[in-house]
Amino acid sequence: MRVSYVCRYCNHMVGELNRPDWTLHDAEWRLGLASLSPVERSEWISYNEGSETLTVQTVCDWCQRAVETHPELLVEGNPLQ
Ligand SMILES: [Zn+2]
Repeated sequence: MRVSYVCRYCNHMVGELNRPDWTLHDAEWRLGLASLSPVERSEWISYNEGSETLTVQTVCDWCQRAVETHPELLVEGNPLQ
């Protein structure tokens, strides 16, 4: 399966893993996702069975800096587009 890390603000792909031998269960354990609550899981990760891709939302360096510099941007929702 594939694992894609995508920035939740700008949709930039931060990183990608390709592990043909991993199951979804393996990926969740190895990536530390098994400890997420059901709400966090539904918010941060999604799995596409057709393409066997697990998408994990994260925050890229650029957006991290932008948010740290301008925390008020978060109030607006999705202002970085
Ligand atoms: Zn970003």
